[in-house]
Amino acid sequence: MYNQYDYYFKFKKRPSEDKLFGVLKSSKFSLFPIFEGYETDFKHKIKKFGFTSSEKVIEQTGWTIFTNNRNILIIFQYAPGGFDIRIITDKEDAAIGICKLLSKIEGVVDYKKGKLKDNELIQHLNKQLKTLSPNGKALKNATLGTVISKIVSCDKLRVLVKKIADTYGNLPLSFEQLNTLNIDKSELNNLINDANLVQKNHKIICAKCKQPSEFLFEYKVDAEKSLKKAKYSCPKCGNNKTGIIEYYSLTKNALAALKQGIWLEKLCLDTISRITNNYWSGYYVDTNELDGVTVFSGNIILVECKDTSFGQNELYIAMVKAEDVKANIVLIVTTNPVHNNVEKLILKYEKQGKRKFRIISSNNAEEIVKGLSKFFVLKQTNDILGLIDNRSHLHPRNKSYRETFTNDLEL
Ligand SMILES: [Zn+2]
Repeated sequence: MYNQYDYYFKFKKRPSEDKLFGVLKSSKFSLFPIFEGYETDFKHKIKKFGFTSSEKVIEQTGWTIFTNNRNILIIFQYAPGGFDIRIITDKEDAAIGICKLLSKIEGVVDYKKGKLKDNELIQHLNKQLKTLSPNGKALKNATLGTVISKIVSCDKLRVLVKKIADTYGNLPLSFEQLNTLNIDKSELNNLINDANLVQKNHKIICAKCKQPSEFLFEYKVDAEKSLKKAKYSCPKCGNNKTGIIEYYSLTKNALAALKQGIWLEKLCLDTISRITNNYWSGYYVDTNELDGVTVFSGNIILVECKDTSFGQNELYIAMVKAEDVKANIVLIVTTNPVHNNVEKLILKYEKQGKRKFRIISSNNAEEIVKGLSKFFVLKQTNDILGLIDNRSHLHPRNKSYRETFTNDLEL
């Protein structure tokens, strides 16, 4: 399977085409520009490759293709202050080798993964996104981060904590009270012994009618001490035999991790920043709080997270935010299915051609990670020979060529 590797090079002085082409040609990779007579005009060149000038591909002026006619294909393009190359090969080693060769050319400063255009967009967003939102700050808090990671890593645990939070908030509850929520006993036992999620306290209860006292003791010994000091008599039945039982309440952090679906924002942050090397999570643009923004393959992608339903209202807000950061793709990540009406609206907006939408909807963290990974993977090809077979210029194979290089993301 062939993969695409994108790199950009910055230069102090633009190296001549002769120099660049010469290095690629004389290297062990034997890479030749695919267009004969490079000096002739672009229309002529692309015609030779099977495109007519009326086709959309002509917008991509300036690219040159190199190949060794075997297993490497390079798309090369000058950009202001540097150049972009996309190397299509089945060996990443070869891609790195080619980059090392090019980086030694006089005037070339350095190279990095990604696209030069991405780099410009990243600089632009770095200037625009400066103020962290409350969620952004929370995501940088290490203790809360541990709790969120726990809640993200286990769907069952998350559902359980959510059920308790929705019903009781952080009220102290006895095991009996928790049990009325119809929760699996072993799961409940795991939860109440997790100090990050649940705080344990103690109450004195009447041994006869089980009436609990009002007062909450942090430690059992304190409750015992208090019993030694004063004689207890049950306010309900007057009995004076007592017991001490544990009470459980969700920690501040457990509640915070669920609040506004921040765990979902964390899941997107962790997953996407592994793929793109740039991700802004929890920043303000004007008065709007952004869940996430990233730059990938020439696109600004706005990520909108919803741990509840994503409705029409949310869609409008997302559109305003997308406009603010000039996002051309809106990625909606929601734990609930998206209603038909909202999907219809999205289709309507997509037809206007301004931006594309993509929905990932699942209540399962693993499924969400899978959806995100699939979205951010560049297209793969298993037919490089078809791409470089210039004997069949007008063959339908050239269609796959266009599709491969004009649509980076699976949309
Ligand atoms: Zn009693």
